[in-house]
Amino acid sequence: MAGSSPSVSELVTTARNLYMQVFREESPQVAVCAPGRVNLIGEHTDYNQGFVLPMALPLVTVVVGSKTSGKDVTVITATEDAGEPRRVDFSLPSDGSSLSPGLPCWANYVKGVIQHYRAPPLPGFRAVVASSVPLGGGLSSSASLEVAFYTFLQQLKPDDGDKVSKAVACQQAEHTHAGVPCGIMDQFVSVLGLEGHALLIDCRSLEATPVPLADPGLVILITNSNVRHSLTGSEYPMRRSQCENAASALGKDSLRDATMKDLEAAKTRLDEVTYRRARHVIEEIERTVHAAEALKRGAYKDFGKLMLESHNSLRDLYEVSCRELDELVSAAMEVEGVFGSRMTGGGFGGCTVTLLMAHTIDKAILHIQERYSGSPTFYITTPSEGARALTLP
Ligand code: ADP
Ligand code: MG
Repeated sequence: MAGSSPSVSELVTTARNLYMQVFREESPQVAVCAPGRVNLIGEHTDYNQGFVLPMALPLVTVVVGSKTSGKDVTVITATEDAGEPRRVDFSLPSDGSSLSPGLPCWANYVKGVIQHYRAPPLPGFRAVVASSVPLGGGLSSSASLEVAFYTFLQQLKPDDGDKVSKAVACQQAEHTHAGVPCGIMDQFVSVLGLEGHALLIDCRSLEATPVPLADPGLVILITNSNVRHSLTGSEYPMRRSQCENAASALGKDSLRDATMKDLEAAKTRLDEVTYRRARHVIEEIERTVHAAEALKRGAYKDFGKLMLESHNSLRDLYEVSCRELDELVSAAMEVEGVFGSRMTGGGFGGCTVTLLMAHTIDKAILHIQERYSGSPTFYITTPSEGARALTLP
């Protein structure tokens, strides 16, 4: 993993020390973590009921804390990038009324998770959050925060343990309290991620097939452009509604049910932009299925080719890339031993993901660094486990 990212136990120590300092208490009772994710292929397909192929990262959000006797909640984030204030205090509604979003913005992810928790009512609690997932970088710090918090609440008052419903509750939290109409991918893989595997997720049936990805000769390199995107901006919801319009023009429930033949037949009835958006989604869903098959066969060249096709489609048809991401992908593709590279996540900045042969990693990093006009951050990653409870020292 990235040389400079703190480990899970370092994050627990940071959160625990802050907890003991602020609350003047002994050690917190509970510690949990949930990972960020990188999507290998299948971008902007989840909210079209299609396939995605993400993996959980070794980068995680940690929550430590303890139950209290009343209904008061205090949450502190150790992450400076989250914005001020980093402490929030509120009371759990006692009459079944809802917890409204407000300020600070970061606390809305927590409030949303409390709101959608599947075994109410909850006790009051104090908690501290620490994370190694970069915020707003397209590695889903938001889902890792939601899922870590849900996992924390499960330690205070267990629910029935259904993992898919847990992911759906966390997705609902992001919809209602953060105002981001995201698909299910991020929360799903943060809950159900498996060490040594990517997950081929069918976002319609919510079934996942683990695809082994532990070849020691292979590296998954994430490059953060360090250009920030804002998913709560207008572009993401606009793409979503363009897809819905396209599906209904084709007489389908979602673009998952549409083929390129359907789209070509309806071409004259669609405006040019809607056509291009739909084409990306339909072809990307197919690419994702083929990519998972290629990975199973160990056909990395085929996989890499599909990654690059995905990037080009996101750039030209879906128009969610940007100059910095295009630069990073072009630079990576110039290195011998690189199979493929693409933007990952919502777009408009954030990260690229590159699949390459392990022995070329140093050369690749140097070359990308040289060619990129900004200052990138690199993470050498391996597919990791989903959310879990941790033992405190
Ligand atoms: P991404 O999920 O790609 O990182 P988002 O814009 O979806 O980007 O989510 C980032 C937001 O999630 C942050 O601006 C912040 O509000 C919240 N967030 C994520 N991690 C933390 C954290 N450790 N502490 C506080 N807020 C966090
Ligand atoms: Mg997010």
